[in-house]
Amino acid sequence: MAKVLCVLYDDPVDGHPATYARDDLPRLDGYPGGQTLPSPSALDFTPGALLGSVSGELGLRRFLEAAGHTLVVTSDKDGPDSEFERELPDADVVISQPFWPAYLTAERIAKAPKLKLAVTAGIGSDHVDLDAAIEHGVTVAEVTYSNSISVAEHVVMMILSLVRNYLPSHQWVLDGGWNIADCVSRSYDVEGMHIGTVAAGRIGLAVLRRLAPFDVHLHYTDRQRLPEATERELNLTFHPSAADLATVCDVVTINAPLHPETEGLFGRDLLGSMKRGAYLINTARARIADRDAVVTALESGQLAGYAGDVWFPQPAPADHPWRTMPHHGMTPHISGSSLSAQTRYAAGTREILESWFAGTPIRDEYLIVDGGKLAGTGAQSYSVTR
Ligand code: NDP
Repeated sequence: MAKVLCVLYDDPVDGHPATYARDDLPRLDGYPGGQTLPSPSALDFTPGALLGSVSGELGLRRFLEAAGHTLVVTSDKDGPDSEFERELPDADVVISQPFWPAYLTAERIAKAPKLKLAVTAGIGSDHVDLDAAIEHGVTVAEVTYSNSISVAEHVVMMILSLVRNYLPSHQWVLDGGWNIADCVSRSYDVEGMHIGTVAAGRIGLAVLRRLAPFDVHLHYTDRQRLPEATERELNLTFHPSAADLATVCDVVTINAPLHPETEGLFGRDLLGSMKRGAYLINTARARIADRDAVVTALESGQLAGYAGDVWFPQPAPADHPWRTMPHHGMTPHISGSSLSAQTRYAAGTREILESWFAGTPIRDEYLIVDGGKLAGTGAQSYSVTR
């Protein structure tokens, strides 16, 4: 029987919700491109419930305990005295989320000799040291596509919010003002702008599709070109590198995984090469951008705005400079954890566990590391240093 150690974010300050704003979720038939939705044998939760926080337990307890497994759920994840670190040495499976990542460093993996499976309840497994997972034979899986569209919606919201100066204008209302000139002196239309994505995978392409009706010029860079038909349909301009794309765009959105090729990509040089007054949206991973270079670019006016929901580390400390830099639209890491997304990634996590315990293959598209090497989606989208 297995011990499953699950790290989730804290419950709401007023406790787990008794009721919700809406009664149901729209029914989806599948993901764009034909990938099927998670298909576990059963669900022990109501779709639309808060599953991603500690009391929600990803809806896994009944399923795991009925099969004789042990489930430990905690939000206490950092430092040597954390519950995560105390429970890790005899854990067989670790489940974590990018929003509240249990950093599975090489040192921690070395302290967990029984660990065989690390599941990301969401997308993005950079909180796991993939080199160490490969070395120790740990399978890494994530719920590919579960929240890609959720993030794409958030990106579009953030682009519009920054360009149109929504958040400061809303603040004037909260403060009892009617300061139209203050609101509009940084407000523009996106119509006619050049907007580019660094990576056009599931999220990047969904962002492009959602922006097309705004009559903007769309650009992208990726390691592989999109099909010609897609380029034509969306009137896309392909760039061979992020550096090439960044110089011509008014808005850049980052939608690549964090791995050795992308870490620190948006540093002082690349930010300095962008058009003065460009906007940068990063919902991918914080360390793709240089923390202090972003602050400097906003202070100098090189960037007109920066928004996103990814920070390093997470949770961000109270004195993280991105909390107080000018012209930002940051949220905590929430874009991929809407109630809609939670239903999908909780179901996908259960599907992965069902496959694992039954000894049947985990879907290829969910795999990041397997059999001592990058596998599935991991082999396509990630790189490792060794
Ligand atoms: P996909 O795997 O569908 O897409 C990733 C894309 O990035 C692929 O097209 C890949 O290229 C491309 N890519 C990888 N390296 C580079 C590079 N060096 N330069 C240019 N393109 C590159 O993943 P998703 O779109 O679903 O998610 C992307 C990332 O977004 C995740 O890895 C995660 O970090 C982040 N994310 C954030 C969430 C949030 O809540 N904020 C939630 C979900 C994801 P190719 O395959 O062609 O080699």
